[in-house]
Amino acid sequence: MSPVRRCSRTACGRPAVATLTYVYADSTAVLGPLATYAEPHCYDLCAEHSERLTAPRGWEVVRLADASAPSRPSGDDLEALANAVREAARPQERAGQQGGASRAADPREVARRGHLRVLRSPDS
Ligand SMILES: [Zn+2]
Repeated sequence: MSPVRRCSRTACGRPAVATLTYVYADSTAVLGPLATYAEPHCYDLCAEHSERLTAPRGWEVVRLADASAPSRPSGDDLEALANAVREAARPQERAGQQGGASRAADPREVARRGHLRVLRSPDS
């Protein structure tokens, strides 16, 4: 058992030095410091795979830090930024909590309207 995180690329067992986060809403792949914990849309990458990273067609790659560079800026700021990105990448839970969503979320409304039309008697 090793606490060292491994590169997520197939057949690559090198230690991970960076975490790639896909922000689907913005079609952006953010490469930042190693995440403190794993999330479904995050992929740990080793130094080599971080450098070779290419985004899918139509996507943009944002590099928060070159993890292999000898002099790194203060890790706290970068980590905060990376965490903010991961926060934004989460499923839109908050969108459903904002007002107005409850009306559209009630499927019975539509069914009831349809039912009323069907109830009209052909003799009246
Ligand atoms: Zn690798």
